[in-house]
Amino acid sequence: MTDASTQTTLATPAQFLPGVGATRAGLLAKIGLRTAGDLLFCFPRDYEFPAPPARIDQLREGRPASLVGTVVDAEIVSRTPGRSIFGAVVENDTGAVRIVFFNQPFRAEQITFDRRVMISGAPKLVGLRWEFVHPKVTFLDDDGEIEKPKILPIYPLTDGVKQNEMRRFVATAVDSLAGSLTEVLPVDLRDQATAALRDAGIDLRIPLPEICTAIRSIHQPYDKHDLDAARTRFVFQELLVMQLALAMRRRKLTTDLKSIALPASAMLDARITNRFPFELTGDQKAAMKQIGKDMARQFPMNRLLQGDVGSGKTVVAIYAMMLAVAHSHQAVLMAPTEVLARQHFQTLSRVLADSRVRIGLLCGSLTAAQRRETLAGVASGKIDLVVGTQALLFGVEFHSLGLCVIDEQHKFGVRQRVRLRSGGVDPHYLVMSATPIPRSVAMTIFGDVELTTLREKPPGRGVVKTYLGRPEWRSRWWSFVKEQLAEGRQAFVVAPRVDSPSQVRSGSKPTDFEDSSESTDSDCDDTNCVDSESASDIDEDISSVESVFQELKTETFSEYQVGLLHGRLSSDEKQSVMEAFADGEIDVLVSTTVIEVGIDVPNATVMTILGAQRFGLAQLHQLRGRVSRGNHTGHICVFTDGTQSPEEFERLVIFENTDDGFDLAEADFKLRGPGDVLGARQSGMPPMRIANVIEDFNVLGVAREIAQMTIDDDPELSDAKWEALRKQLMRRYGKRLDLGDVA
Ligand code: ADP
Ligand code: MG
Repeated sequence: MTDASTQTTLATPAQFLPGVGATRAGLLAKIGLRTAGDLLFCFPRDYEFPAPPARIDQLREGRPASLVGTVVDAEIVSRTPGRSIFGAVVENDTGAVRIVFFNQPFRAEQITFDRRVMISGAPKLVGLRWEFVHPKVTFLDDDGEIEKPKILPIYPLTDGVKQNEMRRFVATAVDSLAGSLTEVLPVDLRDQATAALRDAGIDLRIPLPEICTAIRSIHQPYDKHDLDAARTRFVFQELLVMQLALAMRRRKLTTDLKSIALPASAMLDARITNRFPFELTGDQKAAMKQIGKDMARQFPMNRLLQGDVGSGKTVVAIYAMMLAVAHSHQAVLMAPTEVLARQHFQTLSRVLADSRVRIGLLCGSLTAAQRRETLAGVASGKIDLVVGTQALLFGVEFHSLGLCVIDEQHKFGVRQRVRLRSGGVDPHYLVMSATPIPRSVAMTIFGDVELTTLREKPPGRGVVKTYLGRPEWRSRWWSFVKEQLAEGRQAFVVAPRVDSPSQVRSGSKPTDFEDSSESTDSDCDDTNCVDSESASDIDEDISSVESVFQELKTETFSEYQVGLLHGRLSSDEKQSVMEAFADGEIDVLVSTTVIEVGIDVPNATVMTILGAQRFGLAQLHQLRGRVSRGNHTGHICVFTDGTQSPEEFERLVIFENTDDGFDLAEADFKLRGPGDVLGARQSGMPPMRIANVIEDFNVLGVAREIAQMTIDDDPELSDAKWEALRKQLMRRYGKRLDLGDVA
């Protein structure tokens, strides 16, 4: 034990820290705290601030308060062993209170006549006098200077480890390690950041501290300003490392990668847009213009096109694809599901019916011969446009691929971006997402991507009325649905699926604030394509949707055609159900969220969602988009199954009252936090340890700016002063962002 502290390194197992031991170490490991370094960088999740001293006439029964005063009377009232009582009176100019300790006779030696103390606790009125039983007592030293009551860290805990123990373990780690940490932020950079953060309106009384100071201050802050400076330092560091990595990647994409220039021209522009039987919205025109500019360059476009369902993203994508084809290069459109791929194929076939553009479809239900023929056409260049699911397009050989459009990318992030190359060049990329992402998040998760947003809706978009159904409305609602059916409309009924346990996210906890702590989260296996059909739909528990189907078919809607769609069906079966619904042969389609993404049946105007509390806001909004496709007013009613929590209910109330996808996304972020909404794991970016991209938005902006300047100045961070920072960056992001050697 004696020289343990001198030998402790970041990698020392927690067990060998003084006072921890094997049992506690086992418990700590459950929350990912295995080494001394883990404990050192286990940041408090909150702090306990001492209450400011109160006036005695402001005390309230049971409400915690602190008082400063002088001990005027102190005596042991009863000495009975096991039942001793010590009492004292503390007085100041606002009055006097009594403090009492049971079975702590030693208090009599500390709390003596005339000492100045601060007492904290919850008072109670006994007779006419306030009394504090077992208050916390802080002694204020003799010359009247207040010895500051401490700000206490509050750590995340695990069963069997108490807050006080945790505080002690971390304090031990701080004492033995703080002095030996490697600084990754050179002093000039900290000064530059301090100035920029202050300019950005962040109240930093103390400049960003160096690492040794910062690590002490974040665990044992001297005061609020000290804490703010330390926390800001770590938030800045975390965001800076990320933004440096993203800036490096942006740079690599523009310098290392070559693409074919596919510029727009006035003539091309007119030729393409004339194909659309409607006037484009202003946002669509602006997006096309921007895309034309991007594609004119000799490095890949990397643009995220986001817009609510029905905002006309596909039209913009068709424009970009036509641009590629006009230059005699190929374009590919990747859909997350087979059903969507087919639908895109049909849309393209319709728009390009009288053109010479040849379109191919690659999906699971092709025969081997059909597939071979399509692949051959793609390789020879006979086929200009290919539509397919991600999985099937991976590894396909193209004649000359100019553009890759990825639809409904919200499920995939940086990591899963498919790389398709042909002839040594990279295609331009256009990614479409219907899940709006606040700018702050786009700057991080999709930080190497340019963002275009379609906010304006095409004219004549159907209005959708949203209702939060009470259980007793159910039969009235079904009558309403029948009225709609009688008018010739069609209806969706969505039932939740129950996620199988394998889909539950497991937390991972990387440690990255210091150099030598080996990160455990670098599992960058090359799962390049996730076919969401196989990833999410096949696993679903269909019992609930099956029973809903049976009931509706045999009872509620017995005089109508009722169809069933879920992920367990083969793709042929799915396809024929979808076609029957699109052709109007099915009146009521009972489904899981297979229909969530992009199914376009304008005549379907009513949707019922059962067990709605199980759906996220983004998902509900996607579903709502399904009934706003035509000219008729859409109606959507969400019912819970009665097991919802108050939060889940609140979500549904928000859904009922908010039509706009962006407003909903904001609400969603507030309710659930950004990590949860995007699924940090799915995004391919490591979760943030201390920064919160929404709350720390200002710091993010500063980090991004400084990162860009730094990389402009030294693209590879090769200067010796960046060595530690560069190492940290490579360890955390090198593989994920494909930044090259981790030397
Ligand atoms: P998204 O992919 O964003 O959900 P789509 O591109 O599929 O939206 O467009 C939804 C529907 O609106 C399609 O039927 C499309 O033809 C139509 N549409 C798109 N842009 C316009 C427009 N500017 N004016 C009228 N209708 C449009
Ligand atoms: Mg779409």
